[in-house]
Amino acid sequence: MSLFSRRISALGTENAFKLGDHIKTCSERGLEIIKFNLGEPDFDSPDAINEAGVAEIRKGNSHYCDPAGVLPLRKAIADHVESSRGISVSPDQVIVTAGGKPSIGYTLQTYVDPGDEVIYPSPGFPIYESWVEFVGATPVPIQLPEENGFALTAEALEAAITDKTKLIILCSPSNPTGGVYPREELEGIARVIREKGHPDLRIYSDEIYEDILFDGEAHTSIVQFEGMAQRTILASGMSKSYAMTGWRLGYSVLPTVEEATIFKQLNINIVSCVPPFIQEAGRVALTNDEVRTKVEEMVREFEARRDWVVPALNELPGVTCQLPKGAFYVFPNVGGACERLGAVEFYEALSAEEQATTNPSKLFQMFLLYRYGVASMDRESFGKVGARGQHFLRLSIASAMDQLKEGVKRIGRAIADKDGFHAFLQEEDAWR
Ligand code: PLP
Repeated sequence: MSLFSRRISALGTENAFKLGDHIKTCSERGLEIIKFNLGEPDFDSPDAINEAGVAEIRKGNSHYCDPAGVLPLRKAIADHVESSRGISVSPDQVIVTAGGKPSIGYTLQTYVDPGDEVIYPSPGFPIYESWVEFVGATPVPIQLPEENGFALTAEALEAAITDKTKLIILCSPSNPTGGVYPREELEGIARVIREKGHPDLRIYSDEIYEDILFDGEAHTSIVQFEGMAQRTILASGMSKSYAMTGWRLGYSVLPTVEEATIFKQLNINIVSCVPPFIQEAGRVALTNDEVRTKVEEMVREFEARRDWVVPALNELPGVTCQLPKGAFYVFPNVGGACERLGAVEFYEALSAEEQATTNPSKLFQMFLLYRYGVASMDRESFGKVGARGQHFLRLSIASAMDQLKEGVKRIGRAIADKDGFHAFLQEEDAWR
């Protein structure tokens, strides 16, 4: 017998939450940190939402409620999904969850057995790979090439899908790349699934950045294509669109009521229900015109920052950066910078044991943080399987313009500081 179950050792994590300890150390040493690591809007939730939540608590709406989610919110979600995706949705297919994240674990637990294959994007939200490994499934990451804006293509899916594929995870607009799958690509993906997918194959479509789109782009969902709504778990939530990350409110739309009942049962087992006053605030978020205007303002601000930061990053030696079409991240390729600093060479000379815990973009990430006070995320924070040799950083543009300007300036200075980089590797343990 041992203290911990065998199962728990397979659980991964989200490094964005773990980086906090390093940031604390650096702040305590007197560095002023520019936080490009955060996956949340730098705006507060709009007033109408806040007031609704507070008013509900004052009214005494603070008891247990329907584990599936309160009906007025499920109706608002069904209406929103119907009008934005043009499919028919019953409130009985909707399950309200404590943030967007739980439905990832619910999906893996509901549909996937050990040995089943799960296709997911890499780089992608790290919780996908975490749950794939936790349930003992076979990870089949599709490496997204930067050349086509990090979209998952029908061609790549066709090469990866087998009769053992039980689940395909899609995420558009995407974390960490800001990539948006073009409509034709989604159409092609749907075709591949219709032609090659096992009848019980499910799609998990993570659409949590559905409102954060640039260049006049409209959101497209896989459920809009023939035969897809019947096999898709459409997941979204209020965290990103409404700057409600701390409220913990999200939802899934399941293909059938039977499947929704299983998600409800998972809610009963884990949280009982999402707080009812939070759900009422979420209903206001989805239906209030003032809130809609605030969301549009926020998206325009992200777009203006993107328009400044991408050319600025492309000016840096050894850095190339694609123009993201949505979300609030940029995902520069820092391979050239890693070469210049000697990060790739240093990494190659490490023992296999040491190589397992780090990678060149992590060496650069930690150097940036510990010596230049810029917090970012490295490539492997977004999926490790098959990521070797790819050198990227994720920078969140949910930071004010002056912070962006200062941050990019510091990154430029760091790339030129080869001696500082090697001194850092000798003096600190943070890169291990
Ligand atoms: N899915 C994606 C792609 C995300 O980026 C995030 C958060 O970063 C989530 C899901 C989880 O969102 P929430 O904070 O609502 O749990």
